[in-house]
Order: sequence, then C-alpha cells, then structure tokens
Amino acid sequence: MKTAIYPGSFDPTTFGHIDIIERASKIFDRLIVGILNNRSKKPLFTVEERVDMLQIVIKDLPNVEIASFSGLLVDFAKACDSHVIVRGLRAITDFEYELQMSQTNHILDAELDTVFLTTDLKYSYLSSTTVREVASFHGDISAFVPEFVEREMRKKFL
Ligand code: ADP
Repeated sequence: MKTAIYPGSFDPTTFGHIDIIERASKIFDRLIVGILNNRSKKPLFTVEERVDMLQIVIKDLPNVEIASFSGLLVDFAKACDSHVIVRGLRAITDFEYELQMSQTNHILDAELDTVFLTTDLKYSYLSSTTVREVASFHGDISAFVPEFVEREMRKKFL
C-alpha cells in the first residue's frame, strides 16, 4: 500500500489545498494530511480547529486521514510508515523553497521522496496568508475557501 503525507499549516484550508488533497487521494492508496503544529508561530486557528475543518473537507474521501505533528517532517513520515511527501507548487517563487526542503528531507532520510503537484491554474494565486489578510479587513473570501471555513474566519475577526 502506497501511503503519502501532505504536510502544511492549513491556516486556513483553501480551495488550493482541497484541490491538491483530492488529486493526491487518487494517486496514492492512503493520504495523510499532516497539520504542522509550529509552536514558534502564532497561527490564526489552533491545531484542533484546523483538524476539525479538514475533517469536514475529507468526509467523502475514504482513503484520506488527518493528523497533526510537531518536530521534523521526516520523523512524522517514518511514524506514518510513509516514504512520500506531497507538496503543491503554485509559482516559481514556491520552487526554490520547496526544492531546498525536499533535498534537505532526502538527506535526512534517503528513502523519503517529495512529489510535486502543480496547482490548478485557477488557484495559482491563492495562499492562506492572503486569505487571512483579506478576512482581517472583512473582505469577501468566498472565492478562496469553503463556506464553513468562511464562517469560522468571520468569527475570528468579529
Ligand atoms: P500556504 O500558507 O502557503 O497556503 P501551507 O503551508 O498551508 O501554505 O501549504 C501546504 C502545501 O499546500 C504547500 O505545498 C503549498 O505549496 C500547497 N498549496 C498552498 N496553496 C496552494 C494552491 N493554491 N495551489 C496548490 N498548492 C497549494
């Protein structure tokens, strides 16, 4: 069975993330979406809130699971018995960072490889950072995130 990990902050989940999850779930037998619990950053949503939102996203995808992790991605991948990391690529600006990360992870664990899925063109501009920014000024984020995420965002910026 081929298991892959799709790691990220998902703060919040956007249509761009959902597109990658749906496509990766068709390529691998089992996909684990790993929510990074980065204690040095102050996220908008707690890990528990991000887990809950992603659980709704994947409710109709039987081979997808949600988990959270802190520490090294290579250790999380080992614990999940996975040798594949899935990442999304939006633009050339993502490439440099992603290349560096994938090579670092490969050196830390020679059995671990990173697979890149290119963004659907209609989401190529979309990032959680932009969504948080627009929402903080009470802008319309309906084109970026599902309705239930939009509602949760509104509560944060009341
Ligand atoms: P961000 O805050 O940049 O949206 P995350 O850390 O949550 O990012 O991203 C997790 C993964 O999802 C990364 O590989 C990122 O490149 C990818 N991703 C994020 N947004 C999109 C998008 N619009 N299209 C494709 N991949 C995306």
